[in-house]
Amino acid sequence: MSKTNLKPATQPASKFVYSFGDGSAEGKADMKNLLGGKGANLAEMCSLGLPVPPGFTITTDVCVSYYANSKQIPDGLKEQVAEALAKVEKAVGNKFGDAANPLLVSVRSGARASMPGMMDTVLNLGLNDKTVEGLAKKSNNPRFAYDSYRRFIQMYSDVVLEVDHYHFEEMLERKKHERKVELDTELTADDLKDLVTQYKDVVKKELGNPFPDSVEEQLWGAIMAVFNSWMNPRANTYRKLHDIPESWGTAVNVQAMVFGNMGDDCATGVAFTRNPSTGEKLFYGEYLVNAQGEDVVAGIRTPQPLTIAGKETGGELPAMEEVMPDVFKELVKVYQKLESHYRDMQDIEFTVQNRKLWMLQTRNGKRTAAAAIKIAVDMVNEKLITKEEGIKRIDPSSLDQLLHPTLDPKAQKTILAKGLPASPGAASGTVVFTAEEAEDRAQHKEKVILVRIETSPEDIHGMHAAQGILTSRGGMTSHAAVVARGMGKPCVSGAGEVRIDYKAQSFVAAGKTIKAGDHITINGSTGEVMLGDVPTVQPQLSGDFATLMGWADSIRQLKIRANAETPLDATTARKFGAEGIGLCRTEHMFFDAERIIAMREMIVAKDEKGRKAALAKLLPMQRKDFAEIFQIMEGLPVTIRLLDPPLHEFLPNTEADMQEVAKAANVSIDMIRNRASELHEQNPMLGHRGCRLGVTYPEIYEMQARAIFEAACDVEKQKKGSAIAEIMIPLVMNPKELQMLKKLVDDTAQSVFKEKGTKVEYMVGTMIELPRAALRAGDIAQTAEFFSFGTNDLTQTTLGISRDDSASFIEDYKKKNIVEQDPFVTLDQEGVGELIKIAAERGKATRPAIKLGICGEHGGDPASIHFCQKTGLNYVSCSPYRVPIARLAAAQAALK
Ligand code: ADP
Ligand code: MG
Ligand code: MG
Repeated sequence: MSKTNLKPATQPASKFVYSFGDGSAEGKADMKNLLGGKGANLAEMCSLGLPVPPGFTITTDVCVSYYANSKQIPDGLKEQVAEALAKVEKAVGNKFGDAANPLLVSVRSGARASMPGMMDTVLNLGLNDKTVEGLAKKSNNPRFAYDSYRRFIQMYSDVVLEVDHYHFEEMLERKKHERKVELDTELTADDLKDLVTQYKDVVKKELGNPFPDSVEEQLWGAIMAVFNSWMNPRANTYRKLHDIPESWGTAVNVQAMVFGNMGDDCATGVAFTRNPSTGEKLFYGEYLVNAQGEDVVAGIRTPQPLTIAGKETGGELPAMEEVMPDVFKELVKVYQKLESHYRDMQDIEFTVQNRKLWMLQTRNGKRTAAAAIKIAVDMVNEKLITKEEGIKRIDPSSLDQLLHPTLDPKAQKTILAKGLPASPGAASGTVVFTAEEAEDRAQHKEKVILVRIETSPEDIHGMHAAQGILTSRGGMTSHAAVVARGMGKPCVSGAGEVRIDYKAQSFVAAGKTIKAGDHITINGSTGEVMLGDVPTVQPQLSGDFATLMGWADSIRQLKIRANAETPLDATTARKFGAEGIGLCRTEHMFFDAERIIAMREMIVAKDEKGRKAALAKLLPMQRKDFAEIFQIMEGLPVTIRLLDPPLHEFLPNTEADMQEVAKAANVSIDMIRNRASELHEQNPMLGHRGCRLGVTYPEIYEMQARAIFEAACDVEKQKKGSAIAEIMIPLVMNPKELQMLKKLVDDTAQSVFKEKGTKVEYMVGTMIELPRAALRAGDIAQTAEFFSFGTNDLTQTTLGISRDDSASFIEDYKKKNIVEQDPFVTLDQEGVGELIKIAAERGKATRPAIKLGICGEHGGDPASIHFCQKTGLNYVSCSPYRVPIARLAAAQAALK
């Protein structure tokens, strides 16, 4: 600091550089924000006494200030770097740029979160025509010196000077061909020396300037390249995809080189302290003898296993455990120390130089959801972490991978195309191109995949019937994607390479023509589309998964329910641990072929008498639906929403259907047409629907309430479990609506109880899905015994996902994308969340014991579940397949 202090002190001197090496470090693991993940962990490993080549980290603050000051590095940085470099020289005993005794360094990027989009590491920096000779002499190994030099020129030219790397690869290949050898390691010092000359020539030719000789210029070139890479298009895209803020910046690590390419007692490798795909507690990894850097992952030679246990059956390559038993033993000690220190599975990188082990990186290893669960449960059992920590470590959304049938990993597959992994799980079936055909074939017990350019609400019945959905257009929030996720069905969306020809009833992909009737398999977890039926395996919900869920259940406070309207949904929901049904829609119950006619008769009836006659036909069918669901739910609460959509949605639109209804209702077809135009809704979302229908046609809600109570009494009487019905009146905006309809429900209950000679528990409440209802919640709660927040409609009616935080909102408007129903947008933002808070407060003020819940896609979104916990809701309800996700997220919310 002495040099910088000589300057006029306009600003307090800042610390830009943190040194590490020789068993101590200025940084530590919890300084990731400042030092980046790599730098912080290098420092931590040093302090743990592990063998780490000395070096230093330039902070992320420097990168931030670089961008804030039109790409100028701050005053004092050069001096601090020189000082830190001097420390490294002293520790190693070499000098940077010294012809006889040169220090070589690596320059490594490293942000807070690991970011593959950024600059690749430059190794062996500090070599030029003079220092390479020194290195050769000193190591007494010219081959090694020139191997390092040619690697350096290639890497530096590629990542710093941006000369296309294929030039170098081509020359290397040509050289190997000329010398009639297969491996890099078989090239001699002279071969490599010649390559160096060729490489330099190509740089000169490509850039018009010679490759930099000055080691200072090399060092600063690489440091600046790391800063610049923070804003390269690859990094920008990666950040966007992973929600990493631009403001974080990256750190730069400069570190003394150790050499894995000095001969056969040298190596480089990577390892995981436990198996990252299964979680098994087995040290796992690969290494290469006489190699450097990324050779292991680059596939230059076939890497060898670290452990004898990791040798593939029949594999000839010897394990490190056999070849270098002493180094291996040390590595085992190191990994055990790291794992117990970090108390998590580590992903480590190391190099062996002349049988000495050097550690170059450690970080918490990425893992599959299955591995994450096994590791968490094992670590709790090993007393390494607490149950609470185990719970907190699992990303609830990742459980999705485990809750659907998955492709048998051992199966052969032919990939036709790749789209977006829109809804997880795998499915195989016959290709169909229309919803109608999907339904037809499914009725004959055939498994089908619905293939559409994109889907729309008219395709819903076909999507229901299909095992999975494939679209060639549309993103993660397209209709197909959102609906499929809600249904828990696999979906691959936006598979652009799939060229669909509806007329020809076929699609072309990967040069193959697939016709309707052919079989394909889709994997909604990866986006892959495959030829034929690829075998799948059912999800395993026992073992570690069940253990973890049990812990979550003992911690969480929120109850978890499911949205379910069929016996199958209800069964699935219970299997996944739902504690009730939070939304049972009743309109879908009217779409069955036999029912829709009675429904239409009811709609076109001239008067109440006609309507009642038609409703009488529907009553036994509804009663049967509810009885089945009550039986499956065995005394758990079931929230049933009375009829919600506008009536015109039920009307026929083909001539043949109109004829049929006219006949059944004994009216003229003109009458049907008139009725249809009468019922036409200007605004189908807010028009004559929901409780407004109940107000004008009370006999509809009366029939539904009767069906519910009769079913509940029957189930109760037959001792098939007691039923708890929560009757939900939709779309209320005015407290009077609810008063009137609650009375209707209560009166119906009383008469049914009298007729049946028995009683059941029930509640009447409403869905809060209009901003006005949220604001009038205090008055509505005079009547409502519960609120369920219908956040899908509430989001739309609040224009809840306005894009005012994004520069792209004008583009959205142009695409008429005013409110996107995006299930991944959390409630905890102005607008919708605020209305929920207001409604919850006002509702409780009137009726302190009011039951509060949420249905709609947000009920299965972990961030929104945190919001629900904070806001004091009693339960969340989500699609059956998201119930385990919600259970875990609720436990995490309770731990916050
Ligand atoms: P990434 O972020 O892509 O993992 P790293 O900075 O870890 O990149 O560098 C990649 C590899 O380069 C390391 O795994 C290691 O093998 C090698 N490497 C980096 N620094 C050094 C060094 N100082 N000495 C020897 N090898 C190094
Ligand atoms: Mg690395
Ligand atoms: Mg609604």
